[in-house]
Amino acid sequence: MEKVVAKKKYGQNFLKDSSVLDKIIQSMPHNNNHIVEIGPGLGDLTNKLVKYKDTTAYEVDTDLISNLKSTFATQIEQGRFKLIHTDVLSAWDKNQTLHDGKYDLIANLPYYIATNIILRALEDDNCENIMVMVQKEVAVKFTAKVNEKEYSSLGIITEMLSLDRGINFDVPPESFDPAPKVMSSIFSIRKDMTKSIDKGFKDFLKAGFIQPRKKLSKNLSSVCEKNTLTDIFKQLNINENARPHEVSASLYSQMYTKVKNGRN
Ligand code: SAM
Repeated sequence: MEKVVAKKKYGQNFLKDSSVLDKIIQSMPHNNNHIVEIGPGLGDLTNKLVKYKDTTAYEVDTDLISNLKSTFATQIEQGRFKLIHTDVLSAWDKNQTLHDGKYDLIANLPYYIATNIILRALEDDNCENIMVMVQKEVAVKFTAKVNEKEYSSLGIITEMLSLDRGINFDVPPESFDPAPKVMSSIFSIRKDMTKSIDKGFKDFLKAGFIQPRKKLSKNLSSVCEKNTLTDIFKQLNINENARPHEVSASLYSQMYTKVKNGRN
């Protein structure tokens, strides 16, 4: 294979540590779901994944496609591996899902769009499990719990849409080529397939966290009249001085319903 120069613009940090690749495989959910990988890159993780399950991979970089096609020629011919050459976000815009049937997303994500990808996967009705590598700071946000300072709208949305979520393990920069500047983590979300969240609630959360260290009541004053808000806080037993990260997902949901219905 020709020497590939990693492209920064595509977030290319290739995972080279085979013990980390093995740990990812060991942590995979046990089920009969199809696998979707985003960004197979040089194919190191893909190579392990296709040994276990039928896999579909989305890769945007034209320069990597012919290598991948020849590395996985047999699996492609046997219908066990499908390579789709496109930007994964535009694939989602076009089809709403990355696979027609239940699938698990397993990937070392391009960090520049990782948050977007995870939010899209949470909304994809066919995606049941998400197990991805991201920068540690992002993994912490998606898995944070109430009262932790990293608890934000991302953590709340994930909590509401999942049965389980948590960090599997951390991966140091030296495990990649080129080495990223940050620590990475693999984390997992087992989705609750019965749940969904409406756009109005997401906008409500956005308002609630607009200034994360300020009082929640101040942040929400842009979406709800002050006296109404004071009453809702009282009814739900929320401290008037509470900061946004100190209020649980369930309370946010109850608050939103009351604000939406204009009750006080
Ligand atoms: N899976 C490989 C590994 O573990 O070594 C590569 C991971 S690298 C962090 C991210 C990969 O995502 C690269 O192959 C990159 O080209 C690809 N990528 C970046 N943006 C993408 C996009 N919008 N759609 C699909 N793939 C993308």
